[in-house]
Amino acid sequence: GGGTLDILKLEKVIKNFGGVQALRDVDLNIRQGSVHGLIGPNGSGKTTTFNVISGVFSPTSGKVIFDGKNITGMTPYEIAKHGIGRTFQIPRVMPRMTVLENVMAGMYLRTSTDIMGTFFHLPFKESKQEKHIRYKAMEFLEFVGLDKSAGRWAGDLVWAEQQTLQIARALAGEPKLLLLDEPTAGMGAEESEFIENLIRRIKANGTTIILIAHDVKLVTRASDIVTAIEFGSKIAEGLPEEVKNNPRVVEAYLGT
Ligand code: ADP
Repeated sequence: GGGTLDILKLEKVIKNFGGVQALRDVDLNIRQGSVHGLIGPNGSGKTTTFNVISGVFSPTSGKVIFDGKNITGMTPYEIAKHGIGRTFQIPRVMPRMTVLENVMAGMYLRTSTDIMGTFFHLPFKESKQEKHIRYKAMEFLEFVGLDKSAGRWAGDLVWAEQQTLQIARALAGEPKLLLLDEPTAGMGAEESEFIENLIRRIKANGTTIILIAHDVKLVTRASDIVTAIEFGSKIAEGLPEEVKNNPRVVEAYLGT
């Protein structure tokens, strides 16, 4: 990868869990503005890579450089503040808040307002800034197609809607880099197509994306570059079609 064009760099990242070597010397360069697919069989270290990037775990050794800054060892909150958003394989929404409030909660990274205040003071006094937050949150919901569900409890949404809500909440933090962990898991063909299109629209807005998905066809279509890992090591990297047909990648997938 070419120097200043890389928004994220992993340098010789190792992550051990006791005796398990989840990541072995991983170098990864993510080009600014790209959709970068990350594929590999179960247990190959994909989610661990996200956890190391987003600060859930510190790497055992190695460095994570984001936007020119060394973010290795920072807390998830600090890293989110720096501009990295993420979603989870199993949707994490706040079930007893409305869909809109979930997105508003995602905006706390970008505002000085006490968001909780906006929940509890309503409808008695809503400041101009609070109104603005509601308006912006609604825009994110429109972007992901959930605006008609704004007033529903997040816990009442079906799985696919919760997946999509997580994306809206992550976008509300206005990340420069968005980590999507299996965004189409458990979805039907039509819903998956919607997410694929959503990924393109997020990219078109200038946000860099790292995409983990089991669905190799989806990753091939949606990504500019794909990295394949197995047993915590990179086994192939390059253009999606090349990586998909790489003999080591084919073999790794047949083995699962
Ligand atoms: P993938 O996302 O590719 O399915 P993971 O990154 O979840 O793979 O897991 C990679 C390896 O690290 C697996 O062997 C897994 O059991 C192990 N692992 C992941 N997270 C933990 C953890 N918190 N504690 C112990 N082992 C873990």
